Amino acid sequence: MNETRPSARVRTAADMASTLRIGLFADVQYADKPDNPWRDEFGRARLSFFRGALSNLGDALSQLASHSGPGALAFTIQLGDIVDGYKDDAARGEQDLATVVAELRKYPLPRLFHVIGNHCRYVPLPVLKRELGLEKGTYYSFTPEQHIEWRFIVLDASEVYPGAIDATSEDETQFQAACERCQVPQIQRDARNGAVTKQQLEWLESEMCVAQKRNQTVLLFGHFPLYEHASCTSHLLMNASEVLAIMDRFEPHVLAYFCGHDHVGGYAVRNNVHHITLQGMLEAPVGTNAYAIASLHRTADVLDSAAIDLRGFGTVPSRVLTKKRSELV
Ligand SMILES: [Zn+2]
Repeated sequence: MNETRPSARVRTAADMASTLRIGLFADVQYADKPDNPWRDEFGRARLSFFRGALSNLGDALSQLASHSGPGALAFTIQLGDIVDGYKDDAARGEQDLATVVAELRKYPLPRLFHVIGNHCRYVPLPVLKRELGLEKGTYYSFTPEQHIEWRFIVLDASEVYPGAIDATSEDETQFQAACERCQVPQIQRDARNGAVTKQQLEWLESEMCVAQKRNQTVLLFGHFPLYEHASCTSHLLMNASEVLAIMDRFEPHVLAYFCGHDHVGGYAVRNNVHHITLQGMLEAPVGTNAYAIASLHRTADVLDSAAIDLRGFGTVPSRVLTKKRSELV
């Protein structure tokens, strides 16, 4: 085999243009419970396939793992609510989590990252962190070695969740404080969605500073939607405005925010950043599925060349998402 030392290589056009592919899915919400027909706040008839979600998950993972060679996925990320859980039964929640984790381990995905969702918090946090490999922290960032132009930031949008099975009075205090700071209308507060702490906001700001210094393009992932036109308002992160304010300050570097939670899905552009709410796997009838493969493109030195070719499967629509040059500063 002929080997060439990296320093001696002539860089080709292909080297200069960075492309990587990632897999995404949201709201598996597996539970050993019967199917549940229900009506949402808009009177729409909905159907949750709690057991069927496991079958959809297996099919999606099998497809995602089948990509190999140059088309292999750099990583896959699940966007939260991997189990439905039980508000007052931690043991059953843990059992369902063990079942879904066993399913995940059947497939040789190169790397699988996890986002924590509100339903995940019906499993005690130490168990959740251990089972999902998040012992070092529930919010984190990473940059694949071969793709230094990218920075992937994972938020824990359920960091403050007063409905968690192990919630304390401190969670309630932090929840109320976040709502107060953002002057969240009462009707939205009543949804009692998650919030992020000031500490996590400071960390996000520092991550964005690093991205700016390194001329990186950022993709953010979290469970709760941040923008009301990409979701219904009852599903938003409580202190979404604080996260959006940070994204606004670093807008030229931020390409997109991917989330779940609102199973209907949604999409909108806000301040030149794409907000994609992925359709929930739980509500995809068995055999139809809900997941996506995103091909991420960026020319090495050109920040505003960043784009995403999102290929949706099942209920997830396909989209091409580009960064508009005119709005770059
Ligand atoms: Zn959720």
